[in-house]
Amino acid sequence: MAAKNVLDLAKVRNIGIMAHIDAGKTTTTERILFYTGVNHKVGETHDGASTMDWMKEEQERGITITSAAITTSWNDTTINIIDTPGHVDFTVEVERSLRVLDGAVAVFDAKEGVEPQSEQVWRQADRYGVPRICFVNKMDKIGAEFQRCVDMFRDRLGANAMPIQLPIGAESDFKGVIDLIRMKAYVWNDEAALGEMYDTVEIPETHAEAAQEARDQLLETLADADDEIMEMYLEGQEPTLEQLVPAIRRATVAGKAVPVVCGTAFKNKGVQPLLDAIVEFLPSPADVEAIEGHDPKDETEATTLERKPSSDEPFSALVFKIMSDPHLGKLSYVRVYSGVLQAGTQVLNSIKGRKERVGKVYRMHSNKREEIGSVGAGDIVAVMGLKDTTTGETLCDPSNPIVLESMTFPDPVIEVA
Ligand code: GDP
Repeated sequence: MAAKNVLDLAKVRNIGIMAHIDAGKTTTTERILFYTGVNHKVGETHDGASTMDWMKEEQERGITITSAAITTSWNDTTINIIDTPGHVDFTVEVERSLRVLDGAVAVFDAKEGVEPQSEQVWRQADRYGVPRICFVNKMDKIGAEFQRCVDMFRDRLGANAMPIQLPIGAESDFKGVIDLIRMKAYVWNDEAALGEMYDTVEIPETHAEAAQEARDQLLETLADADDEIMEMYLEGQEPTLEQLVPAIRRATVAGKAVPVVCGTAFKNKGVQPLLDAIVEFLPSPADVEAIEGHDPKDETEATTLERKPSSDEPFSALVFKIMSDPHLGKLSYVRVYSGVLQAGTQVLNSIKGRKERVGKVYRMHSNKREEIGSVGAGDIVAVMGLKDTTTGETLCDPSNPIVLESMTFPDPVIEVA
């Protein structure tokens, strides 16, 4: 069964959700977990009654996010959500979480737009080159203004903000969104308890002109970020859907454009299109460059070793968080960069120069933990049984030792007034 958990790298997303306090980070994360959980369950049981039971149970219990990384899945893709602390100050903890994720969703309050903390976390993510999607939350709030937020992303954050949606209405009149990629409208279905949370309809007459303008703007922004689209743009060609989606992905992964979507997380509006955007546009571990490190015996750190994001490479991983679980005791959260981590085997802590025995390996879901035998490159899991390893240390194959590039702590982020 070991191979079963070595995932196809292209089908993994390691993401963080970052925001200014109160913008809705917790609500958005909970709705993602709830929504993917419900749909996972639907697929598993084909039984409406048990799904309803599960929903009720979850609603009563509330989904709590107590783990440093939670695994869920959407459209056949495993999504590991890494808790990104929302500290005001520059901290080692924020840096560490940014180090292990490949992409992020930045959540904003549609009325407040860019706030000081969101600006700060944005700059930190810039430093680590983390590709992003912006989610303009609280579209139902009085004073919510999508376009103003987009302008702020450009002016205050210097982001090449690229709306891929146009909201239909705002505040209490927020009725849905127009998908500018597929030129379809999604209208919230307030009655739908399960499954699709919106109905797909044609773009309403009243919004046809605005939608076309926004689509033209999207293509123009994308042309600036992607040579292929620029060429088509200059030749007056309209890209097909099959050309547009990969181009947006290329531009997002390269950090040249930031797709913007919107919704109202606490009413579950816009969560599904957000999930689609995470899977379609944020990078997989396969899109990330090989990680560098040095030989632990080389104190000068002059020689550079490299580990490609592949399960065929020698094992290397970084411990990014240690937590105490009420049932399992000490759990070390690990990002595997290369090779395979197998339960019950010995690995080398290359910083301490000591071998450690890997106990059980778990995937932490929002409502259960799943024991797995092994896990491959690009994935994130919790490991039990590491006695002598602390946060920030490298674990590796004893016969192929490496110390992964040490956490660099650049100058503190400049305070934003
Ligand atoms: P966090 O501090 O970023 O984690 O924010 P929370 O998720 O705790 O949300 C802060 C507050 O905003 C809570 O009172 C939420 O109920 C509320 N909230 C979250 N999402 C929405 C939304 O879409 N619309 C409105 N009006 N309020 C929301």
